[in-house]
Amino acid sequence: MGLFSLLFGGRLNIVCQKCGKKYSVGKNAVVITMDDWRNYARRTIGASDADDRKQEDLVSGIETSKPEVRKSILAEAREKAKHIRKALSRGQKRTWRCHACKNINAYHI
Ligand SMILES: [Zn+2]
Repeated sequence: MGLFSLLFGGRLNIVCQKCGKKYSVGKNAVVITMDDWRNYARRTIGASDADDRKQEDLVSGIETSKPEVRKSILAEAREKAKHIRKALSRGQKRTWRCHACKNINAYHI
């Protein structure tokens, strides 16, 4: 584990370029990744159509989720944040959609 991941843990701090909403994925926000969409699509409509479709990650605050599930969805979000960090550090181009205003942002982390 490098210094970077020690400092930031599984969190991913991002700001929407349009509405200015700040999200800390794993702390006060969750993410549905494009890989989740793909897996869902693969399960429901079959593999080939799902593979090439470019999808952005959807980032949302946890204020709308039920208090009793927050702990578990945040733990899951931290794992996803790590996955996204890793993908970005490998040079993958990916974007995220702000749940509040629907704007699609690039990752600046
Ligand atoms: Zn926004």
